[in-house]
Amino acid sequence: MNQLLSLPAKIELRHVTHLYVTTSRAFMAVRDINLRVEEGEFICLVGPSGCGKTTLLSLIAGLEKPTAGKILIEGRPVEGTSRQVGYMLQQDFLFNWRTIEENIFLGLDIQGIRNRETEAYALHLLEEMELADVRKAYPSQLSGGMRQRVALVRTLACQPDILLLDEPFSALDYQTKLKLEDLIFSALRRHKKTAVLVTHDLSESIAMGDRVYILARNPGRISSEVVVPAAIREALPFDARNHPGFHELFHQVWKEMEVVSDAAK
Ligand code: ADP
Ligand code: MG
Repeated sequence: MNQLLSLPAKIELRHVTHLYVTTSRAFMAVRDINLRVEEGEFICLVGPSGCGKTTLLSLIAGLEKPTAGKILIEGRPVEGTSRQVGYMLQQDFLFNWRTIEENIFLGLDIQGIRNRETEAYALHLLEEMELADVRKAYPSQLSGGMRQRVALVRTLACQPDILLLDEPFSALDYQTKLKLEDLIFSALRRHKKTAVLVTHDLSESIAMGDRVYILARNPGRISSEVVVPAAIREALPFDARNHPGFHELFHQVWKEMEVVSDAAK
């Protein structure tokens, strides 16, 4: 038997249900979600808008507390946000009046861990993301793809071991997005991060993920799981798209999406 099975998962959701309650109504955003993500895995969530993808990330990040069920990280219940979990959004939230360097140190300031060593690490990441040249520049001088890389460096600088990515590439043009996918994919691998990526792009989910979860809505729930074969999983996202088995897998995920989209009508 695989020994991993007896260890607590890196992230585990057990029968997670979440309701948003307003003064006039209660809305069930997700219902009875069960999910296990092992250390170092890359998981993708896809599904129609409103199926609860962002809600799931907010719950894992500890920004929301589930109405029912449990969320465990390494077997311990999530109680609020923690340094262990980094969250990156579609919008980069860089501060335009701060230089790139000051932007990437911001997370360190907020966490109260800014010192010579952590600064040096952040600058090393900046170099890894091919951004060393723009250290003293301002965000407005950078392209969208560069800004997203800065946002990633800022997130990684705090050394989280789990990364939550909410459509981080969706505002970028296609070519930039493909390049960034490869760069981020290899960085997360190299640093042995566990990642959950939300995306609209089905081919991106297959190219980047070890497993793809297709969610249905009203209420948000897992409709199916597609396991990406090793050959595609191990290739860089750009190469994965050219793998002989890729098209067939895309078709499978596409069909699963049609099921959940029809169900939402
Ligand atoms: P997705 O990211 O898949 O588009 P969300 O997690 O953002 O979905 O939202 C799931 C559902 O919960 C949607 O119907 C949305 O309108 C609702 N919702 C999300 N956030 C809130 C909130 N803060 N208050 C009330 N309803 C919300
Ligand atoms: Mg969302």
